[in-house]
Amino acid sequence: MATRSLFLLPGDGIGPEAMAEVRKIIAYMNEKEAAGFATDEGLVGGSAYDAHGQAISDADMDKAMAADAVLFGAVGGPKWDAVPYEVRPEAGLLRLRKDMELFANLRPAICYPALANSSSLKKDVIEGLDILIVRELTGGVYFGEPKEIIDLGNGQKRGIDTQVYDTYEIERISAVAFELARTRRNEVCSMEKRNVMKSGVLWNEVVTATHKARFSDVKLSHMLADAGGMQLVRWPKQFDVIVTDNLFGDMLSDIAAMLTGSLGMLPSASLGAPDAKTGKRKALYEPVHGSAPDIAGQGIANPIAMIASFAMCLRYSFNMVAEADRLEAAIATVLDKGLRTGDIMSDGCQKVSTVEMGDAILAAYAG
Ligand code: NAD
Repeated sequence: MATRSLFLLPGDGIGPEAMAEVRKIIAYMNEKEAAGFATDEGLVGGSAYDAHGQAISDADMDKAMAADAVLFGAVGGPKWDAVPYEVRPEAGLLRLRKDMELFANLRPAICYPALANSSSLKKDVIEGLDILIVRELTGGVYFGEPKEIIDLGNGQKRGIDTQVYDTYEIERISAVAFELARTRRNEVCSMEKRNVMKSGVLWNEVVTATHKARFSDVKLSHMLADAGGMQLVRWPKQFDVIVTDNLFGDMLSDIAAMLTGSLGMLPSASLGAPDAKTGKRKALYEPVHGSAPDIAGQGIANPIAMIASFAMCLRYSFNMVAEADRLEAAIATVLDKGLRTGDIMSDGCQKVSTVEMGDAILAAYAG
């Protein structure tokens, strides 16, 4: 039996409540399907600060580095608002991203048929939507130097951020996008601002060259990122995979995500480079939402984003495509039956708790 190592970091607030529902699915898959998951668990965020005075301990960081995949819940909450900046809850997540070199952030936007009416867009625009935004996560304007505010000495100050990309950074993120497109509808749209930014000119050149050299079977198109934002709300179904830089990806992935529903529904994955020996990528899977302190501890959080993040883990870290498809189908089935947590509740549906939603999804998965 294969051993697949998973390191669970439930975190704070609703993180542990949502993670508990994934733990049930893992236990089922181990017991009934011999999935061979070996799980270990650690602390991150405020809970790690309370235990160790750090947002993640070195020992847990080592476990995260050694695991096949990390499942992350959420961090933060008012209890830790005043802790020192370096050990604030988010520092745990940032350290994981940095040390694991997670340069590719994957944010799917999928419209579940049962929720097509709750989008702010018309039903025919989003019904059947299934797109994937691949955002560069470790470079660009959020990290480029110089990054400072300088005093000009004349009563004025100047704020400076630097947008900078090297060839290898664009090559590796576009390779991830092309590889993923091959498992989907085989189309990539690259977005940048080559009309006004030199980094956009280079981005466009390198994506084009990477496509020509290694991925010419994939259909490639280019779009200016501002036009991309418009097209995402005009007719999002024209896209399959979108690849873009850190800044544009931050905005475009939020737009795409909100086409389809509540924060409680949105999964994500962050991937690193393939290991030279094993070919496996370091990977962290997490819901897009935070720790939701306003509802934590009440048993009413929506566990779907966390469960869908686990489905991404099955697909991308373990190549368990059939199981991932079944788990995503189980989520759709439960929504079709009218089960809803409070955040996605609508007229005529049945309001359920976190545990009831998790149980229903597991039952649908088990068939
Ligand atoms: P949030 O995502 O925690 O919550 C925003 C709103 O959405 C809240 O009303 C919340 O109840 C609701 N919501 C979120 N997830 C839900 C779910 N699964 N089911 C039902 N309702 C859900 O964002 P926030 O309120 O801005 O931040 C709260 C804390 O989380 C802060 O400390 C923030 O720093 C932290 N945060 C952490 C992460 C992360 O861990 N990756 C991301 C964002 C925010």
